[in-house]
Amino acid sequence: MELQSERGQAKNSSSCALFVFAHQDDELCYIAKMKRLASEGKRIEILWITDGALFVPAEVRRKESTRAMEMLGIDSSHLHFWNFPDSRSFEHAPQIVNRLTDFIGELEPSEVYTIAFEGGHPDHDTANFAVATAAKRQNPVLRLYEAPLYNAYKTPILSFSKFIPAETKTAYTPMSFSDQLLRIKVVLNYKSQFWMTVLPVLAVGWIRAFGPGEPYRPMPEWNYRQPPHEGKLSYERLTSKLMFNVHFSDFRNAVSSVPCSSSEK
Ligand SMILES: [Zn+2]
Repeated sequence: MELQSERGQAKNSSSCALFVFAHQDDELCYIAKMKRLASEGKRIEILWITDGALFVPAEVRRKESTRAMEMLGIDSSHLHFWNFPDSRSFEHAPQIVNRLTDFIGELEPSEVYTIAFEGGHPDHDTANFAVATAAKRQNPVLRLYEAPLYNAYKTPILSFSKFIPAETKTAYTPMSFSDQLLRIKVVLNYKSQFWMTVLPVLAVGWIRAFGPGEPYRPMPEWNYRQPPHEGKLSYERLTSKLMFNVHFSDFRNAVSSVPCSSSEK
């Protein structure tokens, strides 16, 4: 059913931007970007890889994202939910990459936006890996971008919306006052994620109101066999470790078996 509706989309490669996320709230890092692209006439397609159901039923999270995207004027026919298991998507890396390769082939987007490889959450890193690998297989010149959510780079707590250093240059989507208001309205919609998402995003959003805008950058050539930064990753720290029980070596072992080209599948 889902595949059929994906295939049913009208294609116009120059006017399609694909966004790939792990969870139903990751999209908050691209609110201004999505609004800007939509106003330029781009068709926006959004994919969530996991069901987001580790603590909250999948249906609740799906509804929150659907309502939030409606606020940006994006119709539910452009939203795609794949329902791989929250926090364990890396264990399904081969299937995710195969499916995403086909999906990119069907949609023929001109650009793909995803979340950064930063050791924040194993599903975020899996989404980044899947986008890079599927694009390599399907269209190696496809423009790929990433945006930061959170990481543990050089901080004893967490860094929100701040990139770890890489060779590509950070760009910013400027946010007008009305963009800021829209962002607050959209963020408040994720009631099931109040403590985990709404509060940190509002706090960072407030700080960012005085900054250059939403950060994103061309995706660096990541080596997924090495941790994105030195020291313990966010999900390897004690509290996250208790929640996820995932070490970087689990991620590395899972993605190392995924071939970069379709002919090796
Ligand atoms: Zn997430």
